[in-house]
Amino acid sequence: MVVIGVDIGSVATKGILISDGIQHKTIFPTGWSPRDTSEAVIAQLLHLSGMERQRVTRIFGTGYGRVAFDQADKTITEIKCHARGIAELLPEVRTIIDIGGQDSKVIRLGERGQVVDFAMNDKCAAGTGRFLQVMATTLGLDVSDLGSAEDPAQRLAISSMCTVFAESEIIGLMAKGNPKSGIVAGLHQSVGKRVAAMAKRLGIQEPIAFTGGVAINQGVKRALEEELGSSVMVSEVCQYTGALGAALLALENV
Ligand code: ADP
Repeated sequence: MVVIGVDIGSVATKGILISDGIQHKTIFPTGWSPRDTSEAVIAQLLHLSGMERQRVTRIFGTGYGRVAFDQADKTITEIKCHARGIAELLPEVRTIIDIGGQDSKVIRLGERGQVVDFAMNDKCAAGTGRFLQVMATTLGLDVSDLGSAEDPAQRLAISSMCTVFAESEIIGLMAKGNPKSGIVAGLHQSVGKRVAAMAKRLGIQEPIAFTGGVAINQGVKRALEEELGSSVMVSEVCQYTGALGAALLALENV
């Protein structure tokens, strides 16, 4: 059987095709048209796997753009897809912390990997990947460089929670000659602190997994671990967790 899971996020659209247990994956910037991007993702997955469209049994969609995904046989919430993806990648995990482009979520799992409870911040950019993207641009860095650009020993406190004010605060810190490495460490801490507070309110059970594109950033992982007082596990395919979950749910047809 051949199935596809597509996670149409605010920043990136991730796709996974599973054929006889083999996974092919791809990622595209979502851009302005989630519909066109999801079609491009499917075309690329078919190209990578050498499959014809007719061989695909089911396509499941998730992510914020799933409403526009008319090629999907079914759409599923990101919460369920992340839970299913983690059950595959890190089955022992009981709490998922997902930080994506425009929201952050904490998901508590039961012993069989089922969703027990969750909390979400989608009201404010602080504590999201978008916040880090804006700050990276202000600092003249690429978001993918932030993890290696920090120096926790020189960390500067960033007091503004609001993205617009935090940007002004950073410009002020740079104007005073503060090192970028200390500013970046402060930014990571501010994201870690905010998301850890949400996780603590919901209640954490270890082991903890960190998913979403922001989990690639080693500095946010470090800050999150410091704020939680626990280590967090990050899969090599952390940004694909939702797409993997959607593909597995398509395979199981649930
Ligand atoms: P969404 O599902 O909302 O599109 P993702 O889970 O794909 O979000 O995460 C996107 C975020 O991940 C970006 O805003 C950025 O902060 C972060 N990110 C993406 N790629 C990298 C990378 N290579 N290194 C560090 N951070 C990254």
